[in-house]
Amino acid sequence: MNKYFINLLKKKKEVSLKSTVLSIFSLVTIILIIVLGSQLFYFSKKLSLESIDLQLNGLVQDIRTSIKSNETLNFNMIEMLSLMKDKNNFELYINILATYPSLYAIYTGYEDGSFYEIINLNSNKSLPQIYNAESTDKWLLIKISGQDINKREIYLYNSDLKLTSSRISDNNYNPTTRPWYKMAISSNSSIKTPPYKFSHIDSTGITYAKQISNSKNIIAIDVLINDFRSIYKNHINSDYIDVYLFKKDNTIISSLSDNTNLFKEFFKENIIITDFTKPKIIKLNKKQYVVQIVPLNEQNNEENIILLAEYDKIIEPYQVQILNLLLTFIITVLLMIPIIIYFSGIIVKPIYELVKQSIKVKKRKYNTITKVETSILEVALLSSSLESMSESIYNYQHSLEEKVKQRTKELSLKNEELLKLSINDKLTSLYNREKLDKTLQHEMNRSLRYGVVFSVIIIDIDFFKKVNDEFGHQVGDEVLVESANILRNSIRNVDVLGRWGGEEFLIVCPQTDLEGAQKLAKNINNAIKNHIFSTYPKTITMSLGVASYNENIFKAEEIVSNADKALYKAKENGRDQVVIFR
Ligand code: GH3
Ligand code: MG
Ligand code: MG
Repeated sequence: MNKYFINLLKKKKEVSLKSTVLSIFSLVTIILIIVLGSQLFYFSKKLSLESIDLQLNGLVQDIRTSIKSNETLNFNMIEMLSLMKDKNNFELYINILATYPSLYAIYTGYEDGSFYEIINLNSNKSLPQIYNAESTDKWLLIKISGQDINKREIYLYNSDLKLTSSRISDNNYNPTTRPWYKMAISSNSSIKTPPYKFSHIDSTGITYAKQISNSKNIIAIDVLINDFRSIYKNHINSDYIDVYLFKKDNTIISSLSDNTNLFKEFFKENIIITDFTKPKIIKLNKKQYVVQIVPLNEQNNEENIILLAEYDKIIEPYQVQILNLLLTFIITVLLMIPIIIYFSGIIVKPIYELVKQSIKVKKRKYNTITKVETSILEVALLSSSLESMSESIYNYQHSLEEKVKQRTKELSLKNEELLKLSINDKLTSLYNREKLDKTLQHEMNRSLRYGVVFSVIIIDIDFFKKVNDEFGHQVGDEVLVESANILRNSIRNVDVLGRWGGEEFLIVCPQTDLEGAQKLAKNINNAIKNHIFSTYPKTITMSLGVASYNENIFKAEEIVSNADKALYKAKENGRDQVVIFR
């Protein structure tokens, strides 16, 4: 993997769906093209070689059939001729040759070198010219006598079997040296030569031969095989393929074209024929050729047929087809790209819309969220769940806000109550001891700073124990509450009244001198003894001690202590009175 991709992976860069889909598509396409292309090229090679194999085998098969088709007839004919006692049966031979146009000649070879042959001049076009015959001449008789072996007699006959001309020429032909003679002499039954090329006419033939009645004389017929070239042409119609029928010794029996250079070039090297039973690609004259060699006769390898074809030309049509196929594939793929872009757009658009909606959630604009219009089920589901989610968040938030409001309200009420509780006495609702201490300290600070006077009155109910003792605690409490109300009604609103403890009360009178405080104390003293209680049948009295700030005092406790001393004195002096500390 190269550095670029490693960096890309490290960065974890986000890629859009559209480009992801496109790149996956193109990657798959490229892989497909590579795989498809290589497969197709492999198969094109295989197919072209197989086509060669098919062509050659078809061709060989045809040649074999052509050779075989008259074989039984030819064997029967040679059997029949070998039984003839009469030698050189001119008219019989002529009749047979006339009946079977594929027969080229009937002849007899004798042990002493004599030879007798009748040739059908119509069996090959070039024959009349070779034997200096007229166009009307139809039969040719060749006679060689064992007595005079150097002479050959030639007779020409027309179709009416009239002798038209005759001549005597030199002879060097000896039938006993010919292959057909040798083969037949060493065999008890009829023989057949392999196909061979006539030396003087452009044709291929096979000779059938047999001993005549166990003599050393051989009767033979030459059969012209159907022109191989027409068979070749039936199977091969390309000028870049050549076919040769050749013997084991590499002599050519027949070929498709007249040019035998390629054949010679190929056999320059030492070739093992069996290596080429299947088509093989080789290099000849700097060109690639497909070569295949098939024996004509499967039992022996005497004659073989070789096919040589230019590889480039053979594979060309397949390659053109493959290129067309690949081109069609690529064009189809290219046409699909806009379709993919369009369809990925169908997916991407609603997703971006969904993102927009989710941003609204972030901005808490819950009630502006709308459903995304899409035909994709999953995105639609996502959108509706986003909508219901934001709705539920909105409702939850709303109810939470309401709850907080409610709780805050309750809390502030509780706080108020708590504050009241912290500075008020529970029974009388007057300020408690703490509030009184704070007020005393506050006034003391003011006096110390500004030198202003303030006074303190301590009040104690006389013989309160008796109230409880005689009427019970409940009545005692009610007496305390009503007494507190009387005190509350007696003071100015700047004065601070509180319960000092038990049946004792304390009043802080800001900016009030001793006389002022005494006046207030006396008013209280009078008011209480005249009050008729609701549940307590008797009246009560109070003793009051009064003290004020002066420049020798530095602590609030000292003033209270002074007031207490005065109260003590009031009790001592018989109660129900006001005493001032001086
Ligand atoms: P003195 O004239 O000497 O002050 O006599 P006294 O009986 O008032 O004084 P003492 O200190 O002997 O008794 C005070 C009584 O006040 C004792 C206590 O039971 C009563 N008391 C204190 N606080 C309360 C209260 O909140 N409710 C009731 N019912 N009684 C209380
Ligand atoms: Mg008391
Ligand atoms: Mg008392």
